[in-house]
Amino acid sequence: MRIGVIGTGYVGLVTAACFAELGHDVVAVDIDRAKVERLREGHIPIYEPGLPELVTRGRETGKLEFTTSHAEAAAEANLIFIAVGSPTTGMGEADLSQVVDSIEQMAPVVADGTVVVIKSTVPVGTNADMAAMMDRLRPDLDVEIAANPEFLRQGSAVEDFMRPDRIVIGARSDAAVRLVRDAYAPLIASEDPPVLLTDVETAELIKYTSNAFLAVKLSFINEIADLCEQAGASIADVARGVGLDPRIGSRFLQAGPGFGGSCLPKDTQALLHTSRMFGTPSRIVAAAVDVNRERKHSMVTKIADAVDGDITDATIAILGITFKADTDDLRESPAVDLVRGLVGLGASVRVYDPQGMDRAREILPNVEYEPTSYAAMDGADVAVIATEWPEFATLDLEKVRSLLGRPVLIDLRNLYRSEDVTAAGIEYISVGRPREFPKALQDAGKPPGSGTA
Ligand code: NAD
Repeated sequence: MRIGVIGTGYVGLVTAACFAELGHDVVAVDIDRAKVERLREGHIPIYEPGLPELVTRGRETGKLEFTTSHAEAAAEANLIFIAVGSPTTGMGEADLSQVVDSIEQMAPVVADGTVVVIKSTVPVGTNADMAAMMDRLRPDLDVEIAANPEFLRQGSAVEDFMRPDRIVIGARSDAAVRLVRDAYAPLIASEDPPVLLTDVETAELIKYTSNAFLAVKLSFINEIADLCEQAGASIADVARGVGLDPRIGSRFLQAGPGFGGSCLPKDTQALLHTSRMFGTPSRIVAAAVDVNRERKHSMVTKIADAVDGDITDATIAILGITFKADTDDLRESPAVDLVRGLVGLGASVRVYDPQGMDRAREILPNVEYEPTSYAAMDGADVAVIATEWPEFATLDLEKVRSLLGRPVLIDLRNLYRSEDVTAAGIEYISVGRPREFPKALQDAGKPPGSGTA
């Protein structure tokens, strides 16, 4: 099968490389010339585990090509997957300009009978609008627009694509369903994922409903974490006890600094906008978004409260700047908001992240960047774990104590057991668990739980 992929970002590049790995001939097009040039030279512009190997293999076998020409991507393609961005406008609605551009660029070069599949996350009704646009631009052709939303997670995108928990196909004709199914055929044969065949509107809404539900789950557990802190309970055990109920499930019940990333914030906003347009407001999603917005402020306050004395005299080490581990993506990262908030209060901030430093330098000036966690902590007053990178879970705590001025470790990802941190002589502030002081401080009369954490 010959497949065109429009966009070589986190989703497009993974989609192109995985389809090539499955044996298809794939041509991926991007308007970013520098990106295409780098891909042709064998550089992978994003950090995604397992992806470099796949791209290299695809290029070596000749199954994967990169171009800036939409005509080349469309030539003889059975299927064209649109995987361009759908960010949010200032008003919260999805900005569909990249999707519209893709249709306009494909229309003059697409062949009769090709199925164009929108993989980008787009509001309900977009596929129908794009189909109408294609009809207007090419009344002479029969080009169906189908929906195949993507559920991969950055950090495990290749694995998620190759072992999907479901494949959703929204299409109008059986022929289009067959073609999209055929693209996934080797996967369907080996992994046997549920394949949901729906109308396009349902497929569009499945994606938004999934992301909104995940956002609700996270804001919900974060609110319960606040209650735990006040009531002296432990959120980790509450979440475990709750998650063991199969009706609820344990995933996405980790309390933390709030949800971020390239999907949940924009997709919840877009769903709210769509729901308002249809006159059926999503009050639960609105509450989840509000809770998340407030959480960003409350995390800054949590850190500021942990600093002894004037925050403008404080140096704070931030460990992790990406929105989650195993990615270099900073879009809507809670850690970025944290840094901005602390800098805004006048604190000196030092940042270390295993993969996100280059992108951080572009958007966060007035911050020092350090080559290791320990360099960031050396002489800082407090350290904050903002992203759950595995290396932050195995810090040498004795060394941390010797490097930090006070020493206080604020763990917004709950990577440690309180007793391990306090045993090393470090005050430990985490999420949804009581603030813990080292024994020596308790003996010196510092009342445990006196802070606002
Ligand atoms: P991205 O911003 O990383 O990549 C988009 C790419 O498309 C960029 O390289 C851009 O240059 C290119 N592009 C834009 N307009 C183009 C055009 N007209 N022709 C060719 N290339 C063009 O975005 P992403 O994170 O890969 O997300 C893509 C879509 O997939 C979004 O709708 C997103 O909501 C959805 N999605 C993302 C994820 C994720 O984890 N990132 C998961 C599931 C779904």
